[in-house]
Amino acid sequence: MLTKLTPMMKQYMEVKDKYKDCILFFRLGDFYEMFFDDAIIASRELEITLTGRDCGQQERAPMCGVPFHSADSYIAKLVEKGYKVAICEQIEDASKSVGIVKRDVIRVITPGTIIDTKALDEKSNNYLCAIYLDDKGCGISYVDISTGELYTTEIVETYSKTITSIIDELGKINPTEIITNPSMFNKDETFNAIKKKFQSIIREYNDWAFEYSLTEENIKRQLSVISLDGLGLSDKKYSTISTGALIEYLNETQKISLNHINHITTYSINNYMILDINTRKNLELIETLRGKSKKGSLLSILDKTSTAMGARLLKKWIEEPLIDKKRIENRLDIVEYLTEDLILMNDIKDVLNDVYDIERLMGRVIYGNCNGRDLISLKISIEKLPMLKNMLIESNSDKLKKIGNKMDCLQDIFNLINNSIIEDPPISIKEGGIIKSDFDESLYELREAMTKGKQWLSELEEKEKRSTGIRTLKVGFNKVFGYFIEVSKSNIKLVPENYVRKQTLSNAERYITSELKEMENKILGAEEKMVELEYNLFTSIRNTIRDEVKRIQEISKLIANIDVMNSLAQTAYKNNYVRPIITNDGVFDIKNGRHPVVEKVLDGELFVPNDTLLDSKENRLSIITGPNMAGKSTYMRQVALITLMGQMGSFVPADEARISIVDKIFTRIGASDDLSQGQSTFMVEMSEVANILNNGTKDSLIILDEIGRGTSTYDGLSIAWAVVEYISDIKKLGAKTLFATHYHELTELENKLKGVKNYKILVQEKEGEDIVFLRKIVRGGADRSYGIEVAKLAGVRNEVIQRAYEILSNLENNDINNSNENIDSTNNKNIEQEIAITESIIQNKDHQLDLFSTQENEIIKKLKNIDIMKVTPLDAINILYKLCEES
Ligand code: ADP
Repeated sequence: MLTKLTPMMKQYMEVKDKYKDCILFFRLGDFYEMFFDDAIIASRELEITLTGRDCGQQERAPMCGVPFHSADSYIAKLVEKGYKVAICEQIEDASKSVGIVKRDVIRVITPGTIIDTKALDEKSNNYLCAIYLDDKGCGISYVDISTGELYTTEIVETYSKTITSIIDELGKINPTEIITNPSMFNKDETFNAIKKKFQSIIREYNDWAFEYSLTEENIKRQLSVISLDGLGLSDKKYSTISTGALIEYLNETQKISLNHINHITTYSINNYMILDINTRKNLELIETLRGKSKKGSLLSILDKTSTAMGARLLKKWIEEPLIDKKRIENRLDIVEYLTEDLILMNDIKDVLNDVYDIERLMGRVIYGNCNGRDLISLKISIEKLPMLKNMLIESNSDKLKKIGNKMDCLQDIFNLINNSIIEDPPISIKEGGIIKSDFDESLYELREAMTKGKQWLSELEEKEKRSTGIRTLKVGFNKVFGYFIEVSKSNIKLVPENYVRKQTLSNAERYITSELKEMENKILGAEEKMVELEYNLFTSIRNTIRDEVKRIQEISKLIANIDVMNSLAQTAYKNNYVRPIITNDGVFDIKNGRHPVVEKVLDGELFVPNDTLLDSKENRLSIITGPNMAGKSTYMRQVALITLMGQMGSFVPADEARISIVDKIFTRIGASDDLSQGQSTFMVEMSEVANILNNGTKDSLIILDEIGRGTSTYDGLSIAWAVVEYISDIKKLGAKTLFATHYHELTELENKLKGVKNYKILVQEKEGEDIVFLRKIVRGGADRSYGIEVAKLAGVRNEVIQRAYEILSNLENNDINNSNENIDSTNNKNIEQEIAITESIIQNKDHQLDLFSTQENEIIKKLKNIDIMKVTPLDAINILYKLCEES
């Protein structure tokens, strides 16, 4: 079959055979062409015309193509849609080759390995992640090849806990591509939880790539070490394997040495506050739950960074709050100093505003696709370093001084770029005009020769005009004929004999002379040499800079850190935040706390601040009641956010705040987007509750918003009740918890359980008027739900509202038969009844009671009236007998 193909097509097929899972961009001249199925897919996805090409067979091969100079945007589009794109280039000079030019794939671009800056969000990292998992544990490694950052962690837990931790960790990392060992990929239902959540980005990779010895070798080679000891990986088998496999994948797809990936950060997930994937979403840390926009997230409030590097690091800090008091205090000290030295805060901001994304610029330097403009951006950024260094050294903060003293201002790199690259270089590096003449003697000479040549040409024009007497004579240039002398048709008779005719136009003739040709050779020769020389000089400058990548990365990190802390200081100052007192004593005492986002978006309304007290003794669990829309979830989220902000090293929205470090924050709030994956709301809710009960500790902060709503009132109330009992029990969990509920019955628990306190959100109710939300949280339980009043505020028809009042009144009067005729609901409740029933349900789970069975309630009442201590066993039997007869 292949023998029938044209030689070019044969070459195509050979390459394509090695890249079956990719769309192959095959370079032909100024185009990347795609053929066969690739062409069909690409023409559909990119909306480009599908044509055909003779390939030696009967039918033409389907074909489509994109111009090479605008290929990036097409590649980005395909990659964004989840395709892998293999770029196949000519790998030898066409003029020097015999027969068909050699071509091969020079790079494979996947969602996790795209480096085109236009396709990347400058404020987010683009992580490629590798997971190695077996029955006993797992390694997770991830890399951003546009910046060179590489991280790894390992989890050695029971299988199901490991899977949960992987999901949580992936929720934090938010990779755009995940590769994993295939042996686990199709293993069981538990792993399917990962597959389901990340189905569009997770892929199996070759099993052999996860062989320990190969992975170890890969790491040593990539990070230039002879042993894993110094990297903290020697006793971390899982991390070693996932990292090595990740490097293998990079080698396979990138095909160049990625010198900027030269350091690995190993961490334990226990070094940071653990936030499960739902909590991250619920707290709207990076984007809002609905609409997925950055606006309205915690990040949007905190982000006053000036550089892209700072913006990415800030995001990381939000996603990884610390749990080590010393590290938190370190950050807070600097933020505090900056809030007090406003001049410095503003100066740093101004300086950093001129700093470009050095990390990603270096990524391009490593990839060899940076141009003169990138180096000028690097120079402009480096130029700011001495100023920044001085500011830090001259501050009164020891910590800032220390950072300043350590700072390397990269003077040598500044000098190199400054001496070599012109201020406003062209985009292309292949057409010259980038390097300053003074930088290189040969370049200087060539430029001189060219300038002289051009000078000579303009003098020639004058000279010829004079000698021929043709006033309109011109010396010109075009790419085909080179330099020429142009004479209009009317003057042809004046043309001297030594002119040789070269080209005829409609109203002019073009000539050359031997002396013109000679000069042309000199000029064009010089130009060609100059372009080549400039290209070589440029690449050698680029390589020199590439060799300094570690130093440049270090300074980028330092800039990012300063930028983040300065950003936190600006937000703190602008929004009136305070420095939290960080402790480990289990006490949360927040005075006049505010929700950092809601306080900013209230339309004309003032945000009402509220206090919070939680501790390890009397105030472990707050039951919060109040009508819908009163502000319960805002309040609870605010406590979680204040805690998180404190632990990331930020000031917090409050008048005073004592925060005891928490190991994990759990939230169970609202509907989850897992609904789209076929689970019922109730099922999702319960699996989240299960996760909290299984993984929470006494040092965790738990936010529960109306659990148990997705089922019948009794079931829901019973579950809520039992959950409160479990969490508040110091022997079982004892976590600090805020629990908002509509089940007013739960307020009973304050009297029954140690550590439980009731709170309610105040509303003002005036006869004949709408209720007013006061948003103030105070001790005590709400007596009513005000559901109908809220429905009225929401604009439900008056007729329905009035009928609801009627039904409610019936229910409250215990006019059960009457209500039962009129309504069809088991969800409405008589409070008194419910408390009694719930207690009995909790004591006897199997005993199912019907809400409207008054007879059975009577029995319960009678049972309750029995004084167990006084009845004899015989009396008890008799009572029981009587009750059975009655029922
Ligand atoms: P609930 O959870 O009780 O139904 P929310 O917390 O969702 O109520 O609050 C409803 C709305 O009330 C919020 O969107 C916000 O606009 C406003 N709100 C909440 N808390 C406050 C507050 N402390 N001060 C001012 N407005 C608030």
